[in-house]
Amino acid sequence: MSGRTRLLILKLAIVLVPLALALAAMHVFLPGCAHRREAGLLGANYASQDLGRFQIVLPRGSTLAPVIARGMEAFTAALYAEYGQNLTLQPITDRITIRLFASKEDLGRFAGSRLKQDLSDADGFYDPVSWSIAIALRPGQDPLATLCHEATHLLMDRSATLGPPDWSPWLAEGMAVFFEHSAVAGGRLLVGGLDRRVAAHVLALARQGRHVPLRQLVGGDRQLFRSDAAPLCYEESGLLVAYLLTGAGRPAREAFLRYIDLERQPGPTPPGTLESSLGVPLDSLERNWLAFLQRIAP
Ligand SMILES: [Zn+2]
Repeated sequence: MSGRTRLLILKLAIVLVPLALALAAMHVFLPGCAHRREAGLLGANYASQDLGRFQIVLPRGSTLAPVIARGMEAFTAALYAEYGQNLTLQPITDRITIRLFASKEDLGRFAGSRLKQDLSDADGFYDPVSWSIAIALRPGQDPLATLCHEATHLLMDRSATLGPPDWSPWLAEGMAVFFEHSAVAGGRLLVGGLDRRVAAHVLALARQGRHVPLRQLVGGDRQLFRSDAAPLCYEESGLLVAYLLTGAGRPAREAFLRYIDLERQPGPTPPGTLESSLGVPLDSLERNWLAFLQRIAP
């Protein structure tokens, strides 16, 4: 070995050994730092655990973390398997932080300035930049459906690579409501779904002309989704997404997926884009959708 080669190896060793030591130290200490930072933000009443691809923060003493981690792992795996390509979902490159708060007050104190509030749920927050979602625990209620709802918002927002998307409220909420109805059937998780009793409820209102007509729903702004009609708007949006993805046939599903792609582009989507994408006027879409509700209502 020549003197020059030995010198080169020596120089490389001088650079690489400290770098390797620094990387090893980061690997050992950074997770600890993240947990200490979390503890600093939330106080002593909360504990953080890393389980698979999730960091789960819960009130200290809660035993829910493994159940939440398993449920969310099953949901994201099924979502990516069935819709990852169609919805151009980005790979989950970071650990998703899931925070579950003991009260609305704790949630508000933490999330208010850090995360985006869900339009449909004052107790639900998400942030695509920091890969995190947060909800308040409600006594006697399984938090998984709400977590699937917030995770859908997070992953849909992250699917936009050209800039923050400006989803129409009915579409953003309809997708989240559709995916929160994911459920285990026959031993496997069916991703996305609907509540047949809700379908019957909307149908009964429509027969009396008391539902929110689709023209109003798909053109509705955030105000409509915060008005007295909001609960009905969420129900109808979820049922419309369920119809377009699962009940309207393959060409309509593909046309709807192309429409979602237009919505994903930065800036608002021009009025009339849904009708032109699907190739049907809204009154025909409304008739077909109500016929679908009639078929599935108990
Ligand atoms: Zn929502």
